[in-house]
Amino acid sequence: MTLQEAMSLDQSYVAHTYGRAPFLPSHGRGATCWDCDGKQYIDFSSGIGVTSLGFADPEWVAAVSKQAGEYAHICNYYYSAPGEETAKLLCEKSGMKKVLFANSGAEANEGMIKTARKYSQEKYGPERSEIITLVNSFHGRTVTTLTATGQPAMHRFFYPFTPGFCYAEANNFEDLLAKVSGHTAGIMVEMIQGEGGVVPLEAGFVKKIAALCKERDILLLVDEVQTGNGRTGFFYSYQAFGVEPDIVSTAKGLGNGLPIGAVLFGEKTENVLKPGDHGTTFGMNPIVCAGAKVVLNRMDDAFLKEVSRKGEKLKKALEGAENVASVTGMGLMLGVLPKQGDAHEIFDRCRGKGLLVLTAKDKVRLLPPLVITDAELEQGTAILKQVLKEAAS
Ligand SMILES: *Cc1c(COP(=O)(O)O)cnc(C)c1O
Repeated sequence: MTLQEAMSLDQSYVAHTYGRAPFLPSHGRGATCWDCDGKQYIDFSSGIGVTSLGFADPEWVAAVSKQAGEYAHICNYYYSAPGEETAKLLCEKSGMKKVLFANSGAEANEGMIKTARKYSQEKYGPERSEIITLVNSFHGRTVTTLTATGQPAMHRFFYPFTPGFCYAEANNFEDLLAKVSGHTAGIMVEMIQGEGGVVPLEAGFVKKIAALCKERDILLLVDEVQTGNGRTGFFYSYQAFGVEPDIVSTAKGLGNGLPIGAVLFGEKTENVLKPGDHGTTFGMNPIVCAGAKVVLNRMDDAFLKEVSRKGEKLKKALEGAENVASVTGMGLMLGVLPKQGDAHEIFDRCRGKGLLVLTAKDKVRLLPPLVITDAELEQGTAILKQVLKEAAS
């Protein structure tokens, strides 16, 4: 199929929920891919932080193909080895106690919110159901996770919303404290606001929230959908902040491209959900979990150290570059604020020169595959620096 044909089909038959850029992939290897015309690109996007092992990782392809040839699905009335093993790996690497499977980030967040409400309502009564989230957060597109998302611009047209949410300013503990009441069941945060523009929370703010939660038996809910699974150089970003969440949600990078979400429960919450309380047909899918197992097994200390090293290298190269106002983020999750030129224009110009990047608010967002080689990293950095320079003139 040519790019023109794809664009024409999309225009005719696909709902116009995305402003797509003119790019049609053919195939990829690691952090390099080729479009339908054979042009080569360096990938600084991983989808949106999804293909953590890059394109066509041989071990991942073999595991997924093997499972597809054995059995693709079995309903949740039965056991499934890839799912059991994925859950064990998730608990071992995170320190959490139990795993609830889902199929996306939003669905994982729904599971997190439901569990927090049940915990609080069973213990304190039906009035204690409110979840505090942060202004400028992003938690998903279902009605309830959109409600949790602290960006009023996204709320237009979809009223009425799920009751029981309120919003506090990030890094403003006084504001958060003012929002806490006898109705508060949980406080839900991203350690680095991804869609919000790669904005990290301050360590002191996170510590204060964790202490407050512990003191008042409010649940600390951490959305690791984008920051999770090695992205920041830590398995989960809360580990960098030295806090212990009560519930963690994750998705994007866990399946290396196949849809998966997971909710991880700590000691307080591991036994809150009982048979019949929650479910999802495709959750714990064997093919998806066979792939997730490969991702998780790859993420040992040496792998995470490499993510940190490559992230620092990229950050350093860009901090010193022309037309860069700031670089935020951690590991291979970075946001570059240009002094001049619009992030979307830079996104387009990068693609023209063979580099796939992302944007988040007014920043150029970089989420390269975690397995990116130094050569690919240098090649991509050179293109980005050139484009930033051009955007200034
Ligand atoms: C992407 C994202 C979500 C939503 O995930 P979906 O898989 O698109 O539903 C939720 N939270 C955060 C922090 C995200 O980055």
